[in-house]
Amino acid sequence: MNCYKCGCPLSEKDFCTGCGADVGTYKSLIFLSNQYYNEGLERAKVRDLTGAKEKLRQCLKLNKVNTQARNLLGLVYFELGELVEALTEWVISTTYQQEKNIAQDYIDAVQSNPTALDGFWTASIPPFINTTWRLIPVSRAVSIWQRFSFARW
Ligand SMILES: [Zn+2]
Repeated sequence: MNCYKCGCPLSEKDFCTGCGADVGTYKSLIFLSNQYYNEGLERAKVRDLTGAKEKLRQCLKLNKVNTQARNLLGLVYFELGELVEALTEWVISTTYQQEKNIAQDYIDAVQSNPTALDGFWTASIPPFINTTWRLIPVSRAVSIWQRFSFARW
């Protein structure tokens, strides 16, 4: 995971070795967010969709640019028959990550044929985010993070 200010890879320290930014809280929140993601993924795999929805929403409250979590939340909504919510999540996802984002495929599939996603559920559940945060698109978090509001909790 990288510094939200300068993009420098972060160490185990609570400050950025590149620019000195205080990143302790940031790292804790991302870590917690990833835990929610992993729990949500577990629920999704056993098709506890309501449980998955709750966990993924918690995850996104802490790190709203986690497109992996957002795409999965969209799939969960889709499975629940909440098509508008599903599309909303995917559209938001594509604004955070415009390239190589499976959400665009979901949107295209739904727009061309609402039943087209039937095979996506098992095929596209993404892997666990590991605790070293390597899979988190933190580089995209910079400007979003600065707008992050604790009031949303
Ligand atoms: Zn830095």
